[in-house]
Amino acid sequence: MTRAYYIAGNWKMHKTRTEAVALAKDLVAGLKDGKHTYLIAPSFTLLESVAAVVKGTNIRLGAQDCACEEQGAHTGEVSVLQLKDLGVQTVILGHSERRHLYKEDDALINKKVLLALKHGFEVILCVGELLEEREAGKAEAVCERQTVEGLKGVTAGDLNRIVIAYEPVWAIGTGKTATPEDADAIHAYVRKVVGNLYGAGAAEKMIIQYGGSVKPENAAALMAKENIDGALVGGAALQASTFVPIAKFN
Ligand code: PEP
Repeated sequence: MTRAYYIAGNWKMHKTRTEAVALAKDLVAGLKDGKHTYLIAPSFTLLESVAAVVKGTNIRLGAQDCACEEQGAHTGEVSVLQLKDLGVQTVILGHSERRHLYKEDDALINKKVLLALKHGFEVILCVGELLEEREAGKAEAVCERQTVEGLKGVTAGDLNRIVIAYEPVWAIGTGKTATPEDADAIHAYVRKVVGNLYGAGAAEKMIIQYGGSVKPENAAALMAKENIDGALVGGAALQASTFVPIAKFN
């Protein structure tokens, strides 16, 4: 089966409002004839301004995280209700920076996944191993655990609103990219894990993005692989001159 390619840009903690609006406008212009599915995920404070630019275009609006509770006394957190109110369609969850810098565990990420799904969002669930885990031969086991735990309680009916992003932590922001072959092998493994949980048909349909130093120069080779269905892009998503060629890799 052919899965639609899905290219997402994670802007992380970059851009002021003026810069974000300018980039979003450049992306709307650059991607208006693009054939794939697109998303940009700016910081919370930029969402409202960027929403006004991407509304009605072929670019989805994503948030980089959400709180695990709907509302309440949670200083510093942002609720799914607030994100929905701004027109956010997708939430990135379990990004390695959330897992490792902010110590989010599988249970917390799973709580957020279920809450985001309950409120109608699409979820990009990030999985990926640390360098020491890869070197210890544990890459598959780590990705399997993060996938199984992240999807706990997700119904088969909601699975079409889940995208998985395989992001080996050692390749994020380091300039080191997994080879297309190595990435494809983990993607195939994660797809098998999804198949064990939901059946082969559901696994076939699952979009699995690759993330980790994707650039215009390596995007096409990665996307050519059987199990790689798109990209979650960090550094190269911060400029239209690099994101657009990745997003239009063929
Ligand atoms: C990311 O943070 O999701 C990412 C893949 O970053 P980069 O493209 O900069 O490696």
